Amino acid sequence: MKYVSTRGSAPSLDFAGVTLAGLASDGGLYVPAQWPRFTHDEIAAMRGLPYSELAARVMQPFVGDCLTPERLRELTAKAYGRFAHAAVTPLTQLDERQWLLELFHGPTLAFKDVALQLLGLLFEEFLAREDGSLTIVGATSGDTGSAAIDAVAGLDRVEIFMLHPKGRVSDVQRRQMTTVRAPNVHNIAIDGSFDDAQAMVKRIFADRDVTDTHRIGAVNSINWARLMAQVVYYFWSALRLGAPARQVAFSVPTGNFGDVFAGYVAARVGLPVERLIVATNVNDILHRALSRGDYSVGNVTPTAAPSMDIQVSSNFERLLFDLEGRDGSVTGARMKWFEQMGKMVLSSDLRKKAAFFASVRADADEMAGAMRWANENCGQIIDPHTAIGLHGALHSEIPADVPVVTLATAHPAKFRDAVEQATGVRPSLPARVGSLFDREERLETLPGTYDAIRDHVLATAAR
Ligand SMILES: *Cc1c(COP(=O)(O)O)cnc(C)c1O
Repeated sequence: MKYVSTRGSAPSLDFAGVTLAGLASDGGLYVPAQWPRFTHDEIAAMRGLPYSELAARVMQPFVGDCLTPERLRELTAKAYGRFAHAAVTPLTQLDERQWLLELFHGPTLAFKDVALQLLGLLFEEFLAREDGSLTIVGATSGDTGSAAIDAVAGLDRVEIFMLHPKGRVSDVQRRQMTTVRAPNVHNIAIDGSFDDAQAMVKRIFADRDVTDTHRIGAVNSINWARLMAQVVYYFWSALRLGAPARQVAFSVPTGNFGDVFAGYVAARVGLPVERLIVATNVNDILHRALSRGDYSVGNVTPTAAPSMDIQVSSNFERLLFDLEGRDGSVTGARMKWFEQMGKMVLSSDLRKKAAFFASVRADADEMAGAMRWANENCGQIIDPHTAIGLHGALHSEIPADVPVVTLATAHPAKFRDAVEQATGVRPSLPARVGSLFDREERLETLPGTYDAIRDHVLATAAR
């Protein structure tokens, strides 16, 4: 399987290549050169497989011959063996047609563990083959950071620098990152927003002063391997609800458009997905884009769902590429224009092609309302991100015979204050996160300027 850049001029790479590269050298994102396709019978034959077996089956066409089927199965067994629930991502029923897919049973309590536990193993595997090393520079609005750090802490060939917007991640999120003692882990708090941090990370990838001496890698969802691993749980849940004989809809709490794009990939490769609901909070660029064609950057408003406090959704570029005829020169020109102007318009023709996506926006009251609905009607305590997804599921027009799965992206204890405020219930942290509040924190605070970040990375990173 070959991968091409959404901007058309970077070299095409195999799966190992895109896993280590992260961002393409022309500033684009890697996507498969063509979509593989599972037949109805092949999908039917996946029913009942344990999660890690299913993962290997679904991912094999994307991995190509970079890993043998046996080796891929060993890696998925190891990655998903660390989850605290035997089903890995259990499905819970809310009412006749509403379901929750619990993606938060990994080590850091957010869905990002599902992809990053595997990505850490893939880095190690591919770097060992070439006796190489990788310097990861990432930006986090909270959950990516802790999940990535957990996945690579202590690895010999990987060093990680993780930027987070100072004061805009929860205490639990920050401590999950800053209390990790491994010497290959470096936390940086910047004065600025997540979008500022993400823009700096993108610049580092294009900065010769850095890339001449360090191989820079990505753990954000610009990394294709992450999206690939997320395709699996769409299959997992749809198979349990009757696929491939029956269609299923999904509501996805969305920020960087990575998780919901994985759902789009699942549909592209043959899973019968009826609709994908893009659920946003008041940082609603995606809702504006999908409902009226207005993809223009506003200011980021901090909310109780910080992992969705994003205005520029990197992975939207992958969708545009796919919908506009997979022509890198078209997408590249569009994105350059967007980067200069801070806005773009989606034509009604393009919006028609994107009609597979519905979108719903939830404000603070609607989010709290969904948390109370789940608690009062179903005895379920859900986190603020999941609540936005559930609001989307309850307020979209999906045919009555189609089950709707809301992706539960974080454990409620990760956002205890917001959950308590809405429901009066204070969820307790599961024992597996350990004594977070007793351990010492280690982090660097830097001004939100590119030079400060680059100089720090160059001065600190091992050669
Ligand atoms: C990252 C994250 C999201 C958003 O996912 P994207 O792939 O960025 O759209 C939603 N909820 C939680 C809890 C997250 O950590």
